[in-house]
Amino acid sequence: MSQHPGINPPPFRSTISAIDKNIIFLKDSFCYPRGGGQQGDTGMISKTNIETELLETLPGESIIHPVISTDGFNVGDEVLCTINQQRRNKNTSMHTVQHIVSAIANDMFSAETVGNQISEEYTRIDLLFPDRDKFNSDDLVQAVNDIINSHKNVRIHNWERDRILQHEQMRHTKFMDRIPSSVTELRVVEIVDVDLCPCGGTHVDNTSKLDEIIITNVKSKGAGKLRISYSLNNH
Ligand SMILES: [Zn+2]
Repeated sequence: MSQHPGINPPPFRSTISAIDKNIIFLKDSFCYPRGGGQQGDTGMISKTNIETELLETLPGESIIHPVISTDGFNVGDEVLCTINQQRRNKNTSMHTVQHIVSAIANDMFSAETVGNQISEEYTRIDLLFPDRDKFNSDDLVQAVNDIINSHKNVRIHNWERDRILQHEQMRHTKFMDRIPSSVTELRVVEIVDVDLCPCGGTHVDNTSKLDEIIITNVKSKGAGKLRISYSLNNH
């Protein structure tokens, strides 16, 4: 699945493995299921003469594809799944930008990202600071946009747990406790010279594909915490 591109995902064919009320399960799916702050894919699932809207892909033991209606679809059918590319592309850009913002906030202010919510139009990140009075939104925006404009490559790795945990530059490893130990390799996203962290989300392959950010809101979320919201220029 990791070969499937983060932006402009092409339609793919698969076979219906199960149907449960208005949920379709596929043998293989390249749809991104909601997770890591990123929205799940939407789109269309179709076969000859019939199509149904994919509402939002959700995670599960097998990926969950809730649709408007499963009327006319049967287990064993070969279907075409068309991911809404515009929505995916925006979520992908927003997710890569989120990694940059979190990394810079960590480097500049020692802030830790404790929550994030990505959408097509805006993203918000909750940051926990040792001293939040030191936060300067203009400095953050400048540093993030400098990286966006410096054409950094973004690489995806599949690394063993120990390699991830022992890597000196690795960020955000705390949540790894919650992933079953049967999962021995995890996906790691590297923005060269900027960030390295485990992440299952979709990403662009170079920061030149991103638009600059504009911070739209900063508000207090309790002791030491700020919630910053931003959107992308040209959106
Ligand atoms: Zn991520």
